[in-house]
Amino acid sequence: VNAPTATLATPRRATALAILCLALLAGCAAPPAGVYQNSTIDALLDGNYDGEVTFAQLRRHGDFGLGTFDAADGEMVALDGRFFQVRSDFSVREVPAHTRTPFSAVTFFRPTAARDVSGPIDYHALHATLDAMRPADGHAYAFRIDGRFVQVKVRSVPRQSRPYPPLADVARRQSVATLTNVGGTLVGFWFPASMRHLNVPGYHFHFLTRDRTAGGHVLDLTLNEGRAAVQPLETITVALPRTPPTTRPTDRRAAELDQVER
Ligand SMILES: [Zn+2]
Repeated sequence: VNAPTATLATPRRATALAILCLALLAGCAAPPAGVYQNSTIDALLDGNYDGEVTFAQLRRHGDFGLGTFDAADGEMVALDGRFFQVRSDFSVREVPAHTRTPFSAVTFFRPTAARDVSGPIDYHALHATLDAMRPADGHAYAFRIDGRFVQVKVRSVPRQSRPYPPLADVARRQSVATLTNVGGTLVGFWFPASMRHLNVPGYHFHFLTRDRTAGGHVLDLTLNEGRAAVQPLETITVALPRTPPTTRPTDRRAAELDQVER
């Protein structure tokens, strides 16, 4: 009487064990998604534009993200494993592997959720939409929004020469353009305020047109329609700059950051 039961139960138990092992292996093989950045936003604000990391090195840490270039030579957008440079004349080129960056943040973008966004909605309303895609936790988030835009106001910054001025001074000489009726992609992050010394708190987006011919750091926009995808980032890796921090007084950094980024 017992024998048939045993022969039935054994394959089931084996299957259950196999599933458990596979689940454990999958858990081990896929570490929590994280963001890698070289240097800190504070160092960038203080004028550390020495590119210490090549894009050949950076791409080992992600296929999606944003940043800048050695000597603050424009805005960087990384999308689908390709890295683009938007110069202060808004021309776009793909970044050679030997080019260096003083500050970039990247991740391997694997969205966990996405939703359609219908507009037209302004930048503030888009932020509110993205807020609803962030659970109430302490993580950072990567966001990608593909869509059609009524307008995107972008900026880029001109290449600097030594001695490097603080970023707030560079931003006073930024180029600003408004791209109208354009398709493209917003690439960016949301960081909690508690990380304000490492990266830009709140939302920070760079834009690239669908044909990859224009873009920049986003100052304002109106989204017509699009699709927003999100990925929670549970870990952060910071490659610290070799350049020692300046002795510049730091109490103005929060105001400077607001001026530089918005
Ligand atoms: Zn930016």
